[in-house]
Amino acid sequence: MLELYFAHVNTMMNLPEKSDVAIAGGGLLGRLLAWQLLEAGHRVSLYDAGSFTESASAAHTAAGMISPISEAIDTEPLMYDLGLVGLEQWPQWLAQLSVESLPVHYAHQGSLILAHHRDQSLLQQYAHDMKRQLPESAQGQWLDKASINALEPDVADHFQQALFFSQEAHIDNRQLLSALLTRIQQLGGECIANTAVDVSANTIQCLDAGTVKQVDCVLDCRGVGAKVQWNGVRGVRGEIVRVQTDEIRLQRPVRLLHPRYQLYVVPKLNNEFVIGATQIESEDNSPVSVQSALELNSALYTINPAFAEARIVEMTSNLRPALNDNRPQIQYDNGLVKVNGLYRHGYLLAPVVVQHVLDLLQGKTTNSPFNDVLLKPIDVSQKRIASHA
Ligand SMILES: Cc1cc2nc3c(=O)[nH]c(=O)nc-3n(C[C@H](O)[C@H](O)[C@H](O)COP(=O)(O)OP(=O)(O)OC[C@H]3O[C@@H](n4cnc5c(N)ncnc54)[C@H](O)[C@@H]3O)c2cc1C
Repeated sequence: MLELYFAHVNTMMNLPEKSDVAIAGGGLLGRLLAWQLLEAGHRVSLYDAGSFTESASAAHTAAGMISPISEAIDTEPLMYDLGLVGLEQWPQWLAQLSVESLPVHYAHQGSLILAHHRDQSLLQQYAHDMKRQLPESAQGQWLDKASINALEPDVADHFQQALFFSQEAHIDNRQLLSALLTRIQQLGGECIANTAVDVSANTIQCLDAGTVKQVDCVLDCRGVGAKVQWNGVRGVRGEIVRVQTDEIRLQRPVRLLHPRYQLYVVPKLNNEFVIGATQIESEDNSPVSVQSALELNSALYTINPAFAEARIVEMTSNLRPALNDNRPQIQYDNGLVKVNGLYRHGYLLAPVVVQHVLDLLQGKTTNSPFNDVLLKPIDVSQKRIASHA
């Protein structure tokens, strides 16, 4: 069994070689951590309340934008600093996966911010907010119609001006989740589907069967599902529409600024596009509302009327796992690490968060500038929160 000790936030654990690790939740964080721990030689059991192939995770619904600038403007500059780690890390992780013949589409092509002529003031305000909040190196580049045409000819007809953020990227999230599952299984990871669990130090409890498993360390990556054991976790509803059309080509995510609703269109494989997303402070995870469907589809149509003939292949809602301050957090104690709060930025923040969890488990002392933001000892009062019972 693990010998854990406390000294400094970053040196309180030291997972011995070939430890038994149980991970609750096989969404984005659970799969990334399972993969990295297996590569490091540990034995991993990954539990999910649903299926691994038709995942109910927010990670499966997500658009997969890795957009430190656009996200920071809507939240806080910290997201920009955390997100820069993501931009650096993703190509390395994907190179590691593709060595194993598991290619994942990742495009570092930037993103475009657009507004119709009548809404130009929104674009000016956006540029102004960016200047106020973010460093010079993050400032976007103004494009005129000809430059928009050079980058994205299929939207140029309808827009006179745009802002271009060359640093941003996007990833095919579903291809990634599937590649991670394959690699976890290749490395001998045990994937246990349709099994809701509760967590405590060194113990994972299967709720239906009532069985209990003792391990060296438990990682809680249940997203909104961790709410029953983590006071402050909340779900924030997001709805997306997925369409398919051969009429339009986009190389990069496009965001449309609009006085009433904002929308993004993210290109996916097979000429599919994810259009999203609503952001509603509600834990209602029922299907997409008529109003949201109308708003998303109408705004899409104004980017290029050819979208009118696109076929709707999916309309889905899901809950983004958030904490009160909308920041990610890693809570730790002997034999238990809980990770949550990736909110709207899971793909952007996963690299920095996963690296801090791995360092914590290895007992590495790092002088990461994010230790104080991300790492917190488990609050004793949280341990008393009732479970499902
Ligand atoms: C509409 C939408 C669009 C988004 N777009 C983007 C984007 O463009 N870019 C970006 O960076 N982020 C985006 N996100 C956010 C991103 O998806 C999340 O931040 C990320 O998925 C959180 O990862 P996670 O592993 O914490 O949770 P999840 O991915 O939700 O995974 C949690 C897993 O835990 C399982 N689980 C729950 N309860 C239990 C239990 N009791 N026992 C066992 N398993 C359990 C669930 O089934 C699930 O598989 C979007 C999210 C949504 C909803």
